[in-house]
Amino acid sequence: MKSLSILGATGSIGTSALKIVRRHPDRFRVRCLTGATNVKLLAEQVIEFKPELAVVLDQDRANALARELAGHPCPEILYGEEGVVQAAQWEGTDMVLLAMVGAAGLKPALAAIHSQKEIALANKETLVMAGELMMAEAQKHGVEIIPVDSEHSAIYQCLQGNQIRDMKRIFLTASGGPFRTRSLDTFKTITRADALNHPNWNMGAKITIDSATLMNKGLEVVEAVHLFNVSQDDIQVVVHPQSIVHSMVGFEDGTVMAQMGVPDMMGAISYAFSLPDRLDLGTGFPDFTGMGHLTFEAPDLQKFPSLEFAFDACRQKGTLPAVMNAANEVAVAAFLKEEIKFTDIFTIISETMGRHTRIDNPELSGIIEADQWARNTAASLVSRISKIN
Ligand code: NAD
Ligand code: MG
Repeated sequence: MKSLSILGATGSIGTSALKIVRRHPDRFRVRCLTGATNVKLLAEQVIEFKPELAVVLDQDRANALARELAGHPCPEILYGEEGVVQAAQWEGTDMVLLAMVGAAGLKPALAAIHSQKEIALANKETLVMAGELMMAEAQKHGVEIIPVDSEHSAIYQCLQGNQIRDMKRIFLTASGGPFRTRSLDTFKTITRADALNHPNWNMGAKITIDSATLMNKGLEVVEAVHLFNVSQDDIQVVVHPQSIVHSMVGFEDGTVMAQMGVPDMMGAISYAFSLPDRLDLGTGFPDFTGMGHLTFEAPDLQKFPSLEFAFDACRQKGTLPAVMNAANEVAVAAFLKEEIKFTDIFTIISETMGRHTRIDNPELSGIIEADQWARNTAASLVSRISKIN
């Protein structure tokens, strides 16, 4: 029986993780659940999974959660970052699923590593911000970070039974998002609704926009550099619109291993939860003969400069990846509030990165300072651009 803390339980990854727990109650027990603002859903999850700790964003929501749970056994309720950190280091928890969105997950991620929990990592922004630091801390504490991002789970799975030193290339697949075939001249008129309409994956709002700008793939390049200790130059992004091949690894002898499956995050989450065992998830296999063909193409960097930003951030390292990530978070939030246009997202990231004075080998405080600087810079760009629009 594995005990879990699920950080970000009310999100897309969190709810998929709980579906796996629901299907395999003999294998998993939930000790802690954290959410932010969706108190109603968290209350339902608490009633069903009976954790020892539940965490929400602030005190008002903590009170609201206690009210929702009236008449039911009530766990300890905490709020804010400190509460999430408690969930990450909870005694009795074996594995922490990091499924919060954005930089807010960094301190809880480090707390889980310091408490020597097994880590299942979905929250890629934390590795983009502080990859060197997180991987060094993980190594120091003897903790393995198991990827949940489908591409990185695929790479991890392709490496089983192989030697990492024989790996010569990572082929990181990308669906291409909803605008793969749309002409660049019409990018300015892309609406929030257009961008939220992902062809293959059903995900939270932020990552759905990241998939539309291909910044998601950029973040994943940085994530792969850290998880697999490779150079960005050994990573090739391949657009594969069917999302059946979740990524591939090329070895010394020219062999390429691919991991495939239907596009459902339950596969990658459950593998992280139960490896080397594979659990029945009820998702079935891809319909190979029905789909007829699988296609691969190069990404269009003119339409999606975000990939260049990410390769540049990997090359320059230091605080630049954290700055890129923070500028993207601010720009995506502004686009979701319809304050800026789709193409302004690229402008804001590029200008913020361009204005940054990079620091090499930053400590946590330096990373957080760079993150904050980038948020302020990007926010002032948002307000300037939204006035012009
Ligand atoms: P989501 O928006 O659906 O859920 C986010 C979760 O984080 C929610 O539970 C929310 O309550 C919590 N949260 C948000 N802000 C918070 C804060 N400030 N403090 C505490 N909790 C907060 O997002 P998602 O799609 O589930 O993605 C989660 C992470 O997993 C992201 O980093 C994303 O890039 C990554 N990921 C998601 C998918 C996917 O299919 N959804 C695939 C691969 C990787
Ligand atoms: Mg992914």
